[in-house]
Parts: sequence; C-alpha cells; structure tokens
Amino acid sequence: MENILFWFRNDLRLHDNEAFLLASQKGRVVPVYVIDERQLEKNSLGFVRTGYFRTQFLLESLRDLKQSLQAKGSDLIVLTGKPEEIISRIADDLKVSHVFASKEVTQEETSVESALSQKLKPLNIDIDLIWGSTLYHARDLPFQIHYIPDVFTDFRKKIANTAKVRPCFETVGQLETIIDIEIPEIPSMEDLGFKVKPHDERAAHPFKGGETEGLKRLNYYLWDKNLIQNYKGTRNEMVGSDYSTKFSAWLSMGCLSPRQIYWEVNRYEQEVAANESTYWLIFELLWRDYFHFIALKFGIRLFKRSGIKHDLVKRWKKNKDFFNKWVNGMTGVPIVDACMRELKYTGYMSNRGRQIVSSFFTKDLGVEWWWGALYFESQLIDYDVCSNWGNWNYIAGIGTDPREDRYFNPVIQSKKYDTECQFIKLWLPELKEVSSDHLHHFMNVETGHQISASAGDYPKVPIIKSKRWMS
Ligand SMILES: Cc1cc2nc3c(=O)[nH]c(=O)nc-3n(C[C@H](O)[C@H](O)[C@H](O)COP(=O)(O)OP(=O)(O)OC[C@H]3O[C@@H](n4cnc5c(N)ncnc54)[C@H](O)[C@@H]3O)c2cc1C
Repeated sequence: MENILFWFRNDLRLHDNEAFLLASQKGRVVPVYVIDERQLEKNSLGFVRTGYFRTQFLLESLRDLKQSLQAKGSDLIVLTGKPEEIISRIADDLKVSHVFASKEVTQEETSVESALSQKLKPLNIDIDLIWGSTLYHARDLPFQIHYIPDVFTDFRKKIANTAKVRPCFETVGQLETIIDIEIPEIPSMEDLGFKVKPHDERAAHPFKGGETEGLKRLNYYLWDKNLIQNYKGTRNEMVGSDYSTKFSAWLSMGCLSPRQIYWEVNRYEQEVAANESTYWLIFELLWRDYFHFIALKFGIRLFKRSGIKHDLVKRWKKNKDFFNKWVNGMTGVPIVDACMRELKYTGYMSNRGRQIVSSFFTKDLGVEWWWGALYFESQLIDYDVCSNWGNWNYIAGIGTDPREDRYFNPVIQSKKYDTECQFIKLWLPELKEVSSDHLHHFMNVETGHQISASAGDYPKVPIIKSKRWMS
C-alpha cells in the first residue's frame, strides 16, 4: 500500500474535507501539521504574529483533530518548524508517493507551497493542492479570477444568479494505522513561549477550538436555541455570545466548513422557516468568499501600504503614541476604547466594533492603516488573512469599497449600538459612574470634566477632536 502524506493547514476537520478524503482513498495516509515557526516571530511592531488567543485556539483544534483521527485508527503528527522542510523530510523518510493539502491563496502561504514543491520534485513526489476553504468552489465561479467584480454587490449578484454550492464531501471512514514514525506530544502554550492567563469571564467568545466544538456551536445556533431566526436583528449587538454566530474562528482554522453551514441553514429553511435572517447569514459568508477571491485577484497589493487601489497619494501618520493609546483602549473615545479592551483581553471583537475602531484609526486618527491590520493579525482569535487585510483595505478607503470616504461616526455608533452603555461599562469599569449621555458625547469639554471626576487614568478628553463628531 502506498504511503500518502497529508499536510493539514487551515482545514483542521474531517467533515467536508475533500483533500483529506482524496488522500485517504489513495493509500495509507500520514496526517501531519506543522506549527510554522515564522508565525511565532514578532512582526515589525513587536507583536507576535500569531498571538496568545489564536495559538491557544490552534492547540485546542489540533488536540481535537488528533482525538478524532485516533478514533479512526490513525493519529496526528504535530511538529514545529518550517513546513516546507519538515513535510519534505517526512515525505522522503516514509517514501510517500504523494503529498496532499488544501490550497491557500495569499503570498506567504503560496510561497511555502512553492518551496515545498521544489523540495519534493527531486524526490519524485507529487504534491496535490485541493481548493476547499470557500463556500463556492473557485472553479464554479461564473468568471475567471482576473474578472472577479471589484464591488461586492456585483460579485454577490453574479454568483447568486449562476453558481451553485457543491454538496459536502463524506467524512472519511476507518483509517490505516501510522507506522515507522515517532508521534510526539502536541506542544503546550508554554512550549511555544506563552504564559497561560486566566480566562476573562466577560468574553463574548469563550469557545474552544476544534471541529467538535465548532459543529456543536452550529447545532446550538440553529437547532438547540433557534438563534438564527433573529440573526439579522441581533448581529450588530455587542454584549454576550449569542448576538452573532461566533463561527469565525472555527471557519478561519477550517474546523468548520462553510459548505456545512450553508447546507445546515438550507435544511433549517426547509424544516423550520426561511426568513431574512437565514438569508443574511449566507450573505455574510459571501463576504468571506468575496475577500478570499479578491485576495486571489490582487495578490500582494492587499498588504501594500498603497492598498488594492494602489493609492500613493493618501498620507498616513506614523504616530506611535496614537497607536499605543488605540491598542490599550485609552483614546478617550469610550466606544472605541471598550472595543479595543475587549480585543486585548479576549482576542475577539464584534463586526460592529471592528468597523468602528478601524474607521476611527484610519479616518479620525489617520495612522498608518497597516499597523492596525498587523495588530489585528496578532490579536484576533479568528484572524483570517483574506478577511482581515481585505476589510482593513476596505475601511481605510484603499480597497474595494465603491463608496468614497465611508465613515463610522463614533458618537452616532455609540448611541445607536450601545444605547444604555452596557458594553462600554463592561469593558471600561472605571467609567461605570458616568452617565450614558456623557459617554456618548465624550467630545464636550464639559463631559471631559464629568469623566475625570471618577475615572482614574482614563483620558479627560479624547486624544483628538473632530468636527465630524458634532454633526
Ligand atoms: C477591520 C476588520 C477586520 C476583520 N478581520 C477579520 C478576520 O481576521 N477574520 C474574520 O473571520 N473576520 C474578520 N472580519 C469580519 C467580521 O468582523 C468577523 O467575521 C465577525 O465579526 C466574526 O464574528 P461572527 O462569526 O459572530 O460573525 P457573524 O455575524 O455571525 O457572521 C457569520 C460569518 O460570516 C463571515 N463574515 C461576517 N462578516 C464578514 C466580513 N465583513 N468579512 C468577511 N467575512 C465576514 C465570518 O466568517 C463570520 O463568521 C473583520 C472585519 C473588519 C471590519
């Protein structure tokens, strides 16, 4: 029987995993995951690229996958290093005939694919990269990648009219036992250089990584609690776990398949009800697809300072003081600071929050937009390279947003989405004595005095003033 090496990447699941299924059908499959040591290095701003929360979620996901593979007679080999070196070395040692993996789309990930492919060539080992991370398969799009509409609405309409979501792939059955290779323990947080912190009870994302937990959450959101029924009405709320699905971290690591969600929502629509909320959840998954395909279309431009638009005119401030105050939730704009503290202490922030803080960072503070994206990359539990950099491009106005100067006014956002200041007071307990009116109208000097009375170190007035807040 041929040995086949399966290289797990952002597809840490057994359900609807075409690449893994194909590998297992070809021979005795050896599942390997490599924690890329480069992802644990610090970025140019001094933040570990894969920070605490995502690393923890990753290790939980790997433990879960290992257990699932063991239940099927196999196992998971987890090593730390450079994937191209480790995978090619194991492939050579075990004399495998093929390496299978899921395809990625962005620069660093595809560079690793190319480097691995170069190393496997002289060994006469084929590498098969299978598309699997999006709802719509790249080959089913009604346009070539080069012609993907830049505007989301055009993309969505064209897809809705022509493309179809493929059915989910079956889950593998019993697998062959792995032989002739030592299987090490999965490293701990400490092994990877992190000190374990206590869990923050306020977290809206208290969930653990792994396919088992991801599928449980899907079941909970649709069937146990019927939360999907009101998703459109609740998705912009900010307190608690249930206002939105929280599928994102499982989707980002591939613990949940977007097709599995789609077909479950479809079943819900058949068996319970189809309404604007069920429609809206799929609509949001289309945003995720859109940013994947936009990343494929524009390649490295996604990460450049001039952005997808190649805008060389816009000026960005290299203001480290503003940046640090934004990161630590000390800008003096309560709604922004509450969101940033939530991110700092839990690794999660709602979509509404992300829009408010990225707009504030790029449109009010005018700081280098990619610093914000780099901080999010390190901190987000659900970091997804395409969604993060695509959304930052979009909000910074150098991406694919057709609207000129989209702006989230923090005064209006605060009043509309945190009317009673429940969210602000949860994350800024030093402001709990301040009235809601003052918290929303933080820009008045008078309010500054009100805040300063009871709020310790919290800024008396915002670090900047904007005429736009008065409108
Ligand atoms: C500046 C900025 C950075 C972001 N970075 C990321 C990121 O790194 N990873 C990430 O998964 N999402 C990112 N998002 C999108 C969005 O904020 C999160 O997907 C969402 O908050 C996750 O919570 P949820 O799963 O409960 O979302 P729900 O409202 O329940 O949405 C369901 C799913 O739809 C997808 N989705 C929803 N909104 C978007 C969107 N705007 N773009 C792409 N996909 C979307 C996600 O996969 C999400 O899990 C970012 C948004 C902004 C404005």
